[in-house]
Amino acid sequence: MAEGGLKAVFARLIAATGPITVAHYMAESNARYYDTRDPLGTAGDFITAPEISQMFGELIGLWLADMWLRAGRPVPVHYVELGPGRATLARDALAAARRFGLDPQVHFIEASTALAALQRAAFPAAAWHRDLSTVPDEGCLLVVANEFFDALPVRQLVRTPRGWRERMIGWTGTDLVAQAGERSLDRAIPAQFADAPEGAILETSPAAASVAGEIARRLAAQGGAALIIDYGHTQAQLGSTLQAVRAHARVGALDFPGAADLTAHVDFHALAQVAQALGARWLGTVQQGAWLRAMGIGARAQALVRAAPEQADAVGAALERLAGERQMGALFKVMGLAAPCWPEGAGFAEAAAAERSG
Ligand code: SAH
Repeated sequence: MAEGGLKAVFARLIAATGPITVAHYMAESNARYYDTRDPLGTAGDFITAPEISQMFGELIGLWLADMWLRAGRPVPVHYVELGPGRATLARDALAAARRFGLDPQVHFIEASTALAALQRAAFPAAAWHRDLSTVPDEGCLLVVANEFFDALPVRQLVRTPRGWRERMIGWTGTDLVAQAGERSLDRAIPAQFADAPEGAILETSPAAASVAGEIARRLAAQGGAALIIDYGHTQAQLGSTLQAVRAHARVGALDFPGAADLTAHVDFHALAQVAQALGARWLGTVQQGAWLRAMGIGARAQALVRAAPEQADAVGAALERLAGERQMGALFKVMGLAAPCWPEGAGFAEAAAAERSG
């Protein structure tokens, strides 16, 4: 269906039942968006770290293998990736992990029919799931999510002259428009933000909290570890981070529902709180650049250049994009979780120390 399609559906829905929440808007738009296309790569709308270089997935595979070896090589072992896209990360990570004897069963949690077809071509023996509930409850879990949580719906609360309200999407007759809801939500606001100025926006993601909580509960019950990588912040903050990207350019968040990628910053502080409340150990949340350097991306880049000197410029550019401060290195964060009885995660202490001194 053309993008006019989903906009028209929203218009009819709002005309019939009134404004919808930002979370409802985001959930419906992204469900339509991801189901119908492969959004990744130069011909698509955006590019992700595993699509930039094999080094990214390889270091994730190395981290998982290291955790699993130090945990005593428990079997059965399941690799569980949420939102695996083109399965590029899984391919690079599992190739690296196999060199250490880690050859897990592969599970993909994917909502998109189009992307699941690409994943099936790369991993014919994998199992697909709609959510974590059908992932086996026996055996340890090695969980990976890169740019998955940012696609989950956020709700937005806005401070009005009459207090805090849910931010809603209405219909002007020709366009979708953000507006404040009717019901008071003053009691839902953490004390630190109660006196925020008029117009302030507070985002929360119940969907992200629920997935992080389920991962944590499973790790605590079955053993295992998880890496959650995304752009986001490590302390609660005010402001809308909802953004839409289409053909590698920013567009208005309400302009192309179902035809642009809608994302919001991940609140890593909130996810760590939920994960710990549900029994997982939090290994740290650090900047992607610092973590990749601590995991040895510099040495890996040199090895790639030695093997293929003509690739030196491309490898150098990829290294800068993934780890450079002004590129993905500082905005993107890596959060580690593990079962309480599993070891500390490689890279987190070093990366945190590097951030403090740098
Ligand atoms: N991890 C990949 C792809 C990131 S794009 C990479 O780094 O390249 C986001 C991915 O999450 C896509 O595979 C998309 O289809 C999937 N996704 C988004 N929302 C989802 C949901 N609610 N449930 C399952 N998968 C979802």
